[in-house]
Amino acid sequence: MPFELPKLKYTYDALEPNIDAKTMEIHHSKHHNGYTAKLNAAIKGTPLENESIENILSTLDMSNSGVRNNGGGFYNHSLFWEVINPQNKESLSGELKVALMDAFGTFEDFKSTFSKAAATQFGSGWAWLCAHKGGKLEVCATPNQDSPLMPGIGCGGTPILGIDVWEHAYYLNYQNRRPDYINAFFNVINWSEVAKRYAAAK
Ligand code: MN
Repeated sequence: MPFELPKLKYTYDALEPNIDAKTMEIHHSKHHNGYTAKLNAAIKGTPLENESIENILSTLDMSNSGVRNNGGGFYNHSLFWEVINPQNKESLSGELKVALMDAFGTFEDFKSTFSKAAATQFGSGWAWLCAHKGGKLEVCATPNQDSPLMPGIGCGGTPILGIDVWEHAYYLNYQNRRPDYINAFFNVINWSEVAKRYAAAK
Protein backbone atom coordinates (compact mmCIF):
# COMPACT_ATOMS: atom_id res chain seq x y z
CA MET A 1 0.00 0.00 0.00
CA PRO A 2 1.52 3.35 -0.92
CA PHE A 3 1.59 6.01 1.76
CA GLU A 4 -1.09 8.69 1.54
CA LEU A 5 -0.99 12.36 2.42
CA PRO A 6 -2.99 12.59 5.68
CA LYS A 7 -6.01 14.86 5.70
CA LEU A 8 -5.92 17.74 8.17
CA LYS A 9 -8.56 17.79 10.91
CA TYR A 10 -8.94 21.56 10.51
CA THR A 11 -8.97 24.13 7.69
CA TYR A 12 -5.86 25.85 6.40
CA ASP A 13 -6.89 29.17 7.98
CA ALA A 14 -7.73 27.67 11.37
CA LEU A 15 -4.39 28.45 12.98
CA GLU A 16 -4.42 32.15 12.07
CA PRO A 17 -2.83 34.39 13.24
CA ASN A 18 -0.19 32.05 14.66
CA ILE A 19 0.34 30.14 11.41
CA ASP A 20 -1.11 31.75 8.29
CA ALA A 21 -3.41 30.00 5.82
CA LYS A 22 -1.13 30.32 2.78
CA THR A 23 1.78 28.76 4.65
CA MET A 24 -0.44 25.90 5.84
CA GLU A 25 -1.79 25.29 2.34
CA ILE A 26 1.61 25.21 0.63
CA HIS A 27 3.19 23.28 3.47
CA HIS A 28 0.58 20.53 3.43
CA SER A 29 -0.52 20.33 -0.22
CA LYS A 30 2.90 20.94 -1.81
CA HIS A 31 5.73 20.09 0.59
CA HIS A 32 4.18 17.20 2.52
CA ASN A 33 2.55 15.91 -0.63
CA GLY A 34 5.95 15.95 -2.34
CA TYR A 35 7.64 13.97 0.44
CA THR A 36 4.81 11.44 0.29
CA ALA A 37 5.07 10.93 -3.47
CA LYS A 38 8.88 10.70 -3.38
CA LEU A 39 8.77 8.23 -0.48
CA ASN A 40 6.41 6.02 -2.47
CA ALA A 41 8.73 6.23 -5.48
CA ALA A 42 11.78 5.41 -3.34
CA ILE A 43 10.28 2.25 -1.80
CA LYS A 44 8.43 0.98 -4.88
CA GLY A 45 9.44 -2.59 -5.65
CA THR A 46 11.63 -2.89 -2.54
CA PRO A 47 11.02 -4.90 0.68
CA LEU A 48 10.18 -1.60 2.43
CA GLU A 49 6.97 -1.33 0.44
CA ASN A 50 4.90 -3.29 2.95
CA GLU A 51 6.35 -1.92 6.18
CA SER A 52 5.04 0.74 8.52
CA ILE A 53 6.72 4.11 8.36
CA GLU A 54 7.94 3.62 11.96
CA ASN A 55 9.65 0.34 11.00
CA ILE A 56 11.12 1.87 7.86
CA LEU A 57 12.70 4.73 9.81
CA SER A 58 13.88 2.78 12.85
CA THR A 59 15.72 0.19 10.73
CA LEU A 60 16.86 2.62 8.05
CA ASP A 61 20.13 2.30 6.15
CA MET A 62 21.15 5.94 6.59
CA SER A 63 22.97 5.94 3.26
CA ASN A 64 19.58 5.47 1.54
CA SER A 65 19.05 9.20 1.04
CA GLY A 66 15.76 8.89 -0.88
CA VAL A 67 14.03 7.10 2.00
CA ARG A 68 15.90 9.07 4.66
CA ASN A 69 14.80 12.47 3.29
CA ASN A 70 11.31 11.59 2.10
CA GLY A 71 10.39 8.97 4.71
CA GLY A 72 11.54 11.41 7.39
CA GLY A 73 9.58 14.19 5.70
CA PHE A 74 6.45 12.05 5.47
CA TYR A 75 6.60 10.96 9.13
CA ASN A 76 7.67 14.29 10.64
CA HIS A 77 4.92 16.28 8.95
CA SER A 78 2.28 13.65 9.78
CA LEU A 79 3.17 14.17 13.44
CA PHE A 80 3.36 17.95 13.11
CA TRP A 81 -0.25 18.39 11.88
CA GLU A 82 -1.53 16.31 14.79
CA VAL A 83 0.28 18.13 17.60
CA ILE A 84 -1.03 21.52 16.53
CA ASN A 85 -4.73 22.28 16.80
CA PRO A 86 -6.56 25.57 17.05
CA GLN A 87 -9.63 24.10 18.76
CA ASN A 88 -7.77 22.75 21.68
CA LYS A 89 -8.02 24.92 24.77
CA GLU A 90 -6.83 22.24 27.14
CA SER A 91 -3.63 22.95 28.94
CA LEU A 92 -0.87 20.62 29.95
CA SER A 93 -1.95 18.25 32.74
CA GLY A 94 -1.66 14.75 34.15
CA GLU A 95 1.34 12.46 33.89
CA LEU A 96 2.91 14.40 31.01
CA LYS A 97 2.94 17.54 33.14
CA VAL A 98 4.59 15.61 35.99
CA ALA A 99 7.23 14.19 33.62
CA LEU A 100 7.92 17.64 32.11
CA MET A 101 8.40 19.12 35.58
CA ASP A 102 10.72 16.22 36.48
CA ALA A 103 12.83 16.75 33.38
CA PHE A 104 12.89 20.54 33.11
CA GLY A 105 11.79 22.05 36.46
CA THR A 106 9.05 24.42 35.31
CA PHE A 107 6.96 24.84 32.18
CA GLU A 108 8.89 28.02 31.38
CA ASP A 109 12.17 26.07 31.63
CA PHE A 110 10.80 23.45 29.23
CA LYS A 111 9.61 26.17 26.83
CA SER A 112 13.00 27.84 26.99
CA THR A 113 14.91 24.58 26.34
CA PHE A 114 12.63 23.56 23.46
CA SER A 115 12.64 27.07 21.94
CA LYS A 116 16.43 27.25 22.12
CA ALA A 117 16.78 23.89 20.37
CA ALA A 118 14.43 25.14 17.63
CA ALA A 119 16.08 28.55 17.29
CA THR A 120 19.64 27.25 17.17
CA GLN A 121 19.11 24.38 14.70
CA PHE A 122 21.31 25.70 11.90
CA GLY A 123 19.57 25.79 8.54
CA SER A 124 16.64 23.42 8.01
CA GLY A 125 15.47 20.90 10.56
CA TRP A 126 13.27 20.14 13.53
CA ALA A 127 13.24 20.39 17.31
CA TRP A 128 11.64 17.59 19.27
CA LEU A 129 10.30 16.52 22.62
CA CYS A 130 10.93 12.78 22.84
CA ALA A 131 9.79 10.16 25.32
CA HIS A 132 12.03 7.26 26.29
CA LYS A 133 10.82 3.89 27.56
CA GLY A 134 10.33 4.37 31.29
CA GLY A 135 8.93 7.85 30.74
CA LYS A 136 12.00 10.10 30.68
CA LEU A 137 11.67 13.16 28.42
CA GLU A 138 14.35 14.72 26.26
CA VAL A 139 14.57 17.77 24.00
CA CYS A 140 16.76 17.50 20.91
CA ALA A 141 17.02 18.72 17.33
CA THR A 142 17.68 17.09 13.96
CA PRO A 143 18.84 18.52 10.62
CA ASN A 144 16.88 18.29 7.36
CA GLN A 145 14.13 15.62 7.62
CA ASP A 146 15.99 13.32 10.02
CA SER A 147 13.70 11.82 12.65
CA PRO A 148 14.47 10.72 16.22
CA LEU A 149 13.26 7.27 15.14
CA MET A 150 16.28 6.87 12.84
CA PRO A 151 19.26 4.93 14.16
CA GLY A 152 22.34 6.62 15.56
CA ILE A 153 21.43 10.27 15.11
CA GLY A 154 21.95 11.33 18.74
CA CYS A 155 18.31 12.19 19.27
CA GLY A 156 16.40 9.20 20.54
CA GLY A 157 13.16 7.87 21.95
CA THR A 158 9.78 8.46 20.39
CA PRO A 159 8.97 11.99 19.24
CA ILE A 160 5.75 13.24 20.88
CA LEU A 161 6.01 16.94 19.91
CA GLY A 162 7.91 18.51 17.04
CA ILE A 163 8.34 21.90 15.45
CA ASP A 164 9.33 22.29 11.82
CA VAL A 165 11.93 25.06 11.52
CA TRP A 166 12.47 24.83 7.76
CA GLU A 167 11.91 28.30 6.29
CA HIS A 168 8.95 26.90 4.31
CA ALA A 169 7.16 26.49 7.67
CA TYR A 170 7.22 30.19 8.56
CA TYR A 171 8.91 32.47 6.03
CA LEU A 172 5.78 33.93 4.34
CA ASN A 173 4.56 35.38 7.63
CA TYR A 174 7.65 35.66 9.80
CA GLN A 175 10.50 36.09 7.24
CA ASN A 176 13.74 35.79 9.23
CA ARG A 177 12.03 36.01 12.64
CA ARG A 178 12.19 32.32 13.54
CA PRO A 179 11.93 33.06 17.31
CA ASP A 180 8.55 34.79 16.78
CA TYR A 181 7.27 31.71 14.91
CA ILE A 182 8.50 29.44 17.71
CA ASN A 183 6.69 31.60 20.24
CA ALA A 184 3.48 31.47 18.18
CA PHE A 185 3.78 27.67 17.87
CA PHE A 186 3.33 27.47 21.65
CA ASN A 187 -0.13 29.06 21.22
CA VAL A 188 -1.35 26.16 19.07
CA ILE A 189 0.15 23.07 20.73
CA ASN A 190 -2.47 20.34 21.12
CA TRP A 191 -1.44 19.15 24.58
CA SER A 192 -4.02 16.39 24.82
CA GLU A 193 -2.57 14.85 21.63
CA VAL A 194 0.98 15.17 23.00
CA ALA A 195 -0.17 13.53 26.26
CA LYS A 196 -1.77 10.69 24.30
CA ARG A 197 1.47 10.11 22.41
CA TYR A 198 3.43 10.23 25.68
CA ALA A 199 1.21 7.55 27.24
CA ALA A 200 1.72 5.29 24.19
CA ALA A 201 5.49 5.84 23.96
CA LYS A 202 6.68 5.61 27.57
MN1 MN B 1 7.95 21.25 6.54
